[in-house]
Amino acid sequence: MPDSTHRSTDASMYYIDPHIHMVSRITDDYVRMARAGCVAVSEPAFWAGFDRGSAESFADYFRHLTEFEPKRAAQYGIHHTCWLCINAKEAENVALSREVISIIPKFLDRPGVLGIGEIGLNKNTKNECTIFLEHVELALKTDELILVHTPHLADKYKGTRMIIDMLKGDGRVKPHRVIIDHVEEHTIKPALDAGFWAGMTLYPVTKCTPERAVDMVERFGTERIIANSAGDWGPSDPMNLPDFIRALRARGHDEMTIHKLVLRHA
Ligand SMILES: [Zn+2]
Repeated sequence: MPDSTHRSTDASMYYIDPHIHMVSRITDDYVRMARAGCVAVSEPAFWAGFDRGSAESFADYFRHLTEFEPKRAAQYGIHHTCWLCINAKEAENVALSREVISIIPKFLDRPGVLGIGEIGLNKNTKNECTIFLEHVELALKTDELILVHTPHLADKYKGTRMIIDMLKGDGRVKPHRVIIDHVEEHTIKPALDAGFWAGMTLYPVTKCTPERAVDMVERFGTERIIANSAGDWGPSDPMNLPDFIRALRARGHDEMTIHKLVLRHA
C-alpha cells in the first residue's frame, strides 16, 4: 500500500479543501492535512450512511457541523466552514425533508455557515427534484450560496443536465453563486457554459484521479474551476489535493495557476 502520509507532505503550498466530510474523518487526518498545507475546509451536509429518523437528528448534525467540528479543526490551524441541507438520498422522504428545510434558517447565521448544500440528485427521481427546488427557494430567500452534488456513474450526465435545467429555469438564480460539484469530462462543459462554478472531485483510484483533473484543467482552463477531495467515510483520501498540486507541477503548470485552483478560487 502506498504511504499517503509520506507521499503527501511535500506539496509546500497552502490550500483549501472546499468539499470534505470531516465528521467522518479521524483527527490524524487534520494533522496530515495541516502538515501538507491545508488552511481551511468547507464541509457540506451529507448522508450519514443510514437514513435518519427525524428532523431533530438533523438539528444535532447541524450543531455538530457548526459547534464541535470548527473547534476540532482549529486545534490544527484549519479554519472550518460548512453548508447545510438534507442530502439527495434522504430527500426521497419529502415530509422529512420539508421538516429539515424548516429548521435550517435558524442555523444559517451561525459563524462559518457558507450556504445550502450539498443539495442535488442521487437517482434523479421526482421527489429529489421537488426537494432540490425547495432548497433552491430557501437559498434565494435567504441570499445563500448553493453547493450542488451531481449523481455518480450512469446517472451523472442526465442528473447534471436536469440540475442545470432546473437552475436555469429560475431567472432569480445567479450562476456565479452556485457550484456544480463532482464534474467529470462529460459534465464540466455544460456547467461552465451555463456560468456556474465547477468542482472537480479527486478520488484515489476510479472516477477522477488527480491526473485526470489536470487533463480537465488543460482542456477547459482554470476559470470558475475548483478541486476537492470529498473525503468521507467511504474510500476517499483527504490527501488528494496535495497530490493534485504535485500532478499540476509535474505537468509544468506555474505556481500562480496552482495557487488559483487550490486556494484563491476555493
Ligand atoms: Zn460530499
